[in-house]
Formats: sequence, C-alpha cells, structure tokens
Amino acid sequence: MNEAMEKSEILSWLRETNSRRLQTLWHHADEIRRRHVGNAVHLRGLVEISSHCVRQCAYCGLHVGNAELTRYRMEAAEIVDAAHQAVAFGYGTVVMQAGEDYGLKADWLSAIIQQIKRETPLAITLSLGERTDAELQEWRAAGADRYLLRFETSNSALFDRIHPPLGNRPCDRLALLRRLRELGYEVGSGVMAGIPGQTYESLANDILLFRELDLDMIGIGPFVPHPATPLGQNSPDFPYAGEDQVPNTELSVYKAVALTRIVRPDANIPATTALATINQKNGRELGLQRGANVVMPNLTPLQYRQLYQIYPGKACVTETGEACNTCLSGRILRIGRHIGSGPGGRGTHANAQENICHA
Ligand code: SF4
Repeated sequence: MNEAMEKSEILSWLRETNSRRLQTLWHHADEIRRRHVGNAVHLRGLVEISSHCVRQCAYCGLHVGNAELTRYRMEAAEIVDAAHQAVAFGYGTVVMQAGEDYGLKADWLSAIIQQIKRETPLAITLSLGERTDAELQEWRAAGADRYLLRFETSNSALFDRIHPPLGNRPCDRLALLRRLRELGYEVGSGVMAGIPGQTYESLANDILLFRELDLDMIGIGPFVPHPATPLGQNSPDFPYAGEDQVPNTELSVYKAVALTRIVRPDANIPATTALATINQKNGRELGLQRGANVVMPNLTPLQYRQLYQIYPGKACVTETGEACNTCLSGRILRIGRHIGSGPGGRGTHANAQENICHA
C-alpha cells in the first residue's frame, strides 16, 4: 500500500469487512501518518460565526428553507474574543465557519482578520462557502491563510441533487478550489461518507480526487440525517444505491480516512466532529489512530453553539470552550500523542516533533 494506490485496491478496501484484514489498513495508515506528519495532533479552534445561509443543501440543517431554526450572526468583538481564547488554550489556528451568508460583508470580515493577525500569532482558516472572487482576494490580502470548501462528492450528478445551484450562478467547487490555491491559500476540502445514492466507486473516486488536487487539508465525516432536510425525510428524490451504497457508518469514515492518509501522506486530516457525534465514546481517538492528525475544538460561545445545527445530536454543543479544550487534550494524551503548537500548516513535520505543549 502506497501513495500510488490504484482505484481497484481502494475499492476493495472500501468493501472490506474482515476485521483482521482491516487491522492491517489501520496499522499502515497510522504508520504513514507517524512518518509524514509526526505524533503531534494540531488543535484548530472552531468559531461558527453565523448560521445564516442562502443555500438549500438537501443534507444540512442550516439550509435556507429551515424556518424552525433561530439564526444568529456573531459580533466582531465576540469573534476576536474567541481568537484570543484560542491563543490562551495554545491553539495555532482559528477557523471561522459559517453558512453561505452574504450578510457577512467583505470589509467587515477583513477588519476582523486584520485585528486577529495584529493581536495574535494565529493562522486563520475561513470556511464560508462559495464566495465571490473579489471577496476571496480581499480576505487573502487581509491575512487569511487557509480556506475550506468541501466538494462533498465527486459524483457531479449526485452533488447537483444534494446542493442545488443558487439561481443562475454556476457552481463549480473544483474550479473554486483551484482558484483558492492560485490566490495563495492553503486549500482544504472533503466529503461525506454514506450520502444516499453514493456508491463505493464514487467514494473511491473522491479519494483519488484528493490526491489529484494535492489538497493540504481533507475532512471526511459521515452523512448524519437531519429531520428538517429532504435527505433526513427519506425523500424519494434521493434513492439509495442498493448493494453499491456506502453505509453512513463510522467504519466507512475510518476506511476513507485511512485510505486518504495513504494517498495523501502529508495532508492535515481531522478526526471530525461528525465522527465524534456518531461515536461519542472514542470516535475521535479511533480517527486519530487510523490516519487523522487534527481535531477542531469548538470555541463558539455557548449561546450560539446549539443553534449551529448542521446535523442533530452534534457532539460538544453543551460544553464551554474550556471544557472542550480539557476534554480533547486528555483524549489526545491518553492515546500516546502530543499536542502540536504553532500553525501546523502543511509540511510542518519537523515542528510537529519539536513543538510539544505540555499544558
Ligand atoms: S452545507 Fe453550507 S451552504 Fe449548504 S445549507 Fe449548509 S451551511 Fe449552507
């Protein structure tokens, strides 16, 4: 098993059910992770800055048609406070995430990015949906370092079904990812495992696309149905793929994470909150032991956190930032890993080995 893994081998691992053989996959992915990105686990403080969204994604609780949801947009001072909290906890990155909210004005966010850059050593990651080229350029110039935009599935027909276009605007996330790279961002993307209609072959293609796009960050979570969405209501518009259907289980995610580590050895790969949601006991730890090297503790103020309901039952919605920090640090240390310090960008293996935070 190596970086050049063929599609047929990826497919065969995705279909594998023998737990003894799967141990080989876990072991191999963990060894590649150790060799290429070290034993450090990087903590990215997540701030969910707005739950407004103009899109109608069929899987997401924030979709514009969900009238049940109370929407919020954080104040600038609250976001900057959260960034300072990230520094106090020793995190190297703050991630500002939101729905596709055009109420987040470009110059307003630029001022926040500049203030955080002035006052902290943090790397800044944005995850704000399909924004205009001018906005992406402005935020990069203001100091944003990274941008996350999941392509969710490489099957374009399935993607168009679950992510309807916005009016006449073209929606080409792969082109956007390439553009983000041109603008000088470190670029992250990812997919869901187990979307109704997603076949094993489609997930194998996703993993090959991670390699082709040479992504810096790759997030993989399970599809978790939300009752206020078409996909959560078993709509006949979203049929399952019979025996080719990828199940939306933690096992599917572990396999995809492990295979992704093998084909993209130096990428930053999070053990996602969605994984921790379907296995609250040790989903994150298993993710970290099967290829992942990043976790994203939540720094969103508690009064907003419960409102950011992309999917139900989300892990860590009732814990304070402090509680999340203590809990995650403990989980990382208990599996024999250490906490990375500094921004933890791509290719920081040497730093990962040296900058050990004993807090
Ligand atoms: S996935 Fe993102 S763009 Fe789609 S509805 Fe949810 S928040 Fe909006």
